Amino acid sequence: MIFGMLACRRIRDLRKLKTMVSNQPHPAVSLNPSFSKKVFLGGLPPDIDENHLNRCFAVFGNHRVDWPHKSDSDYQFPPQGYAFVIFEKTSSVVSLLNTCTFVDGKFILLVSSLSIKNKQVQVRPWLLSDCFYMYSPASPPDYRLTVFVGGVPRPTTAAQLAALLQSNFGRVLQVTIDVDSHLCYPRGSARVRFAYRHSYMAAVEKRFLPFNDCEPEKSMEMKPFVLDNAKCDKCGNENVKFCGSFKCLSYLCSLCWNEAHRNKVHQPVLAEAKRNRRSKRHHRASNGVPACPQSPQNSVQET
Ligand SMILES: [Zn+2]
Ligand SMILES: [Zn+2]
Repeated sequence: MIFGMLACRRIRDLRKLKTMVSNQPHPAVSLNPSFSKKVFLGGLPPDIDENHLNRCFAVFGNHRVDWPHKSDSDYQFPPQGYAFVIFEKTSSVVSLLNTCTFVDGKFILLVSSLSIKNKQVQVRPWLLSDCFYMYSPASPPDYRLTVFVGGVPRPTTAAQLAALLQSNFGRVLQVTIDVDSHLCYPRGSARVRFAYRHSYMAAVEKRFLPFNDCEPEKSMEMKPFVLDNAKCDKCGNENVKFCGSFKCLSYLCSLCWNEAHRNKVHQPVLAEAKRNRRSKRHHRASNGVPACPQSPQNSVQET
């Protein structure tokens, strides 16, 4: 059932993009819905370097090319055949998509290198609306039923992640993909709220989940979502630490922590909100830009 709903939603999204017949140009992609200015490029020719990519994308507007750990080395070729192009304006993303053809549900751009002519390169834009999934009817956030998921492949949509976790653990009510505050592009983590405690416990206990069966080595990690303003589960005191051990999974003040851990060594888990705020402060200080639109779940977390 859920897969049918999600399939319908993807079809609606694609219709929103006004994509045309397979293998045909589609000159009608518009600014609405909104895109991130960061776009994923997959399947690049192995001998294409940064300068060559810059020449390919200059026609769409000011941009830069990036890939993970690019600044760590002088190597000019995108490793593993993928890269990101980051435009100054969203209208450049629209121009790029209008230049692509649409093949089997993917935007395709033909890119040539010195040795390969017209290689099909996948262009994956990030739709801002794909950050959120909410099962209807909406329920208020419940952090006792929410897991933090790390290692989420980019760009996975909230609906895709909801479907995967639901098929493994049971009903998912909300998913929020974490995005960076500058480009609103996925950071590779998410928060998932389950409907039932047994689903939450099963996810925390399993901890690692392959994103797909083809690449079992690329696992996502699920941990309890931790608030930074909770009260002690035993005595109600403030200034608590969260014990992420499967046997505890509770907020404890210093006294109760020591009492509960007399004969065992458990490690406290840092609250995600604390990490997010640090990261946002850093972005605002360095870029002077506003944060991305927030989901209802985000709004509650930030209070
Ligand atoms: Zn206590
Ligand atoms: Zn513990």
